[in-house]
Amino acid sequence: MKQFIVIGLGRFGFSVAKTLAEKGYDVLGIDTNEKKVQELSNIVTHAVQADATDENSLKTLGVSNFDVAVVSIGEDVHANILATLILKELGVEHVVVKSKDKLHGKVLSKVGADKIVFPERDMGTRIANNLISSNMIDYIEFAPDYSLVEIRANKKMADKNLAELELRNKFGVNVMAIKTEKGLEITPEAGQLIRRGDILIVIGNNNNLEKLRKFTQGG
Ligand code: ADP
Repeated sequence: MKQFIVIGLGRFGFSVAKTLAEKGYDVLGIDTNEKKVQELSNIVTHAVQADATDENSLKTLGVSNFDVAVVSIGEDVHANILATLILKELGVEHVVVKSKDKLHGKVLSKVGADKIVFPERDMGTRIANNLISSNMIDYIEFAPDYSLVEIRANKKMADKNLAELELRNKFGVNVMAIKTEKGLEITPEAGQLIRRGDILIVIGNNNNLEKLRKFTQGG
């Protein structure tokens, strides 16, 4: 079973550590702030007060034995970058880092971060998309320019099957699954009839998804 280190137990790091622990994973939480460490100590396997910019401290904690480290130091960009560099130098295989912005992200990839996340930017995009579209329920960007969205079928789409809707031809998107009253259909066939209110899980290029969003606007 994978073992995780979470460095920086602010709102983001705390939530990552708590979720992993609840799913039964071993988590070592690290923060310079004693209060944060105490708060997490009855939730995760180990919570330790340490400075992640101190290579010796991380070495002593045996970080190289862990499979994944999540660096979620937010405000202190210098500490965030340095901790990432040290974790990679100590041989942690997969280091995920929370980034403030694009430039910070660039530096992180130069020092060896394996995955860079922009939680504030991404959550902002998701919320904005939910706000502007009554039928777009959720939105996850999983690669630059490509996303997975949940779209509620409106009147225009209702009582047609997937072949008749021609979403692939008209919009260049692919329907991966459909949530119906009966449950989730994960291998929808061309003949699957869409009912008003069904939720289509669609994958595609962002421009094409935007065209689909406009098409599905309104009841
Ligand atoms: P969030 O926006 O997710 O709440 P914050 O920037 O507020 O993020 O929290 C980051 C956490 O990282 C804080 O709890 C802070 O004490 C911790 N932190 C900052 N510098 C270090 C460091 N050098 N080593 C370990 N933890 C640190």
